[in-house]
Amino acid sequence: MTQESILSHLMSFRATTEAPLQTKALLQWYAAQVRNQPVETVWFEQNGFTSLLITTKKTKTPRLWLAAHIDVVPGPDDLFTITHSGGNLVGRGVFDMQFAAASYLVILNELTEKLPTLDFGIMLTSDEEIGGKNGVGALVREGYLATCVVLPDGGPNWELITVGKGVLHLKIIATGRSAHGSRPWLGENAIEQLLAIYTRFDSFCTQQFGAPSLTTTSWALTTINGGTATNQIPDAASLTIDVRPATEVDRETILQYLHDHTISYETLSDGACLSLSEDLPELSAIKNSASQNNITLTQGAMCGSFDGRYFAAENIPVLCFQPPGGDIHSTAEWIDSRGWEIFTKIIKDFVCEYAQTEIT
Ligand SMILES: [Zn+2]
Repeated sequence: MTQESILSHLMSFRATTEAPLQTKALLQWYAAQVRNQPVETVWFEQNGFTSLLITTKKTKTPRLWLAAHIDVVPGPDDLFTITHSGGNLVGRGVFDMQFAAASYLVILNELTEKLPTLDFGIMLTSDEEIGGKNGVGALVREGYLATCVVLPDGGPNWELITVGKGVLHLKIIATGRSAHGSRPWLGENAIEQLLAIYTRFDSFCTQQFGAPSLTTTSWALTTINGGTATNQIPDAASLTIDVRPATEVDRETILQYLHDHTISYETLSDGACLSLSEDLPELSAIKNSASQNNITLTQGAMCGSFDGRYFAAENIPVLCFQPPGGDIHSTAEWIDSRGWEIFTKIIKDFVCEYAQTEIT
């Protein structure tokens, strides 16, 4: 089966995150394709979300995971069939990210003979679009780890993500004392306190991290709540801040600031930063595989969060880059067909190089 026909099969399941029967049906079809291969197949289910693990050895910790989420966001009916536009394929999931699941199947099929000498696995999950907690998150908690993970859910046009920002969602809470609005001196205004806290926080961050940008830590005041009546001094108020730390050190700096200034806060969500250091052997290995295919991987940054953060939290390097493509979650979602073929070759070469257990 060609790469494109595999992809068009995957798309036909309309495997949106909200449709557990469809995502499961897709994974069952996928598992059926490797039935005659010398591989182990494990099903994993968490809160109704199915994941599929295919490994060349019976292990939870192969040397390398090729990971992808197979769930997609909804779209009009005709988007679940591939259309061709110039050298591009257009449709739901072609770039985010069923293309990768299709690549992995091609690689597995092409490597049939070699599989016993290789130690790698394919990890397919079905809940990335709503946070990945029951997919990669749960699998990592259950000990499905590796020395390295390929997860091409970012870095279009051959940009290898070396800085992937983390997440730190904070709720800052201020409490005061209520009084009648006509006698503010008798109360303590929680909203005014809160505004002062944020103003100081904002200038502290500017001083520490500089202006927010793609590659540096960003912070944004996103919601604010407080007060019940125009004539009442509010005794409680809260606001939320969306922080995207560029490094774990920046995250600590912020938490330390809140602690030092006895600011009362809750962490609503947090996710680890992804960073690949220059001297990481996996980094040069993947760059080699790319250059063997005449592709130069450039360094990229990413500010959205993706499943890679669960591996990053365990200090597992995540290799994240894609062929040319884009407009994900829109009706114009596309992938460059030729680039995709090269992508598959790069990953295949990397698997052969990195996951081999015996020198033949
Ligand atoms: Zn994605």
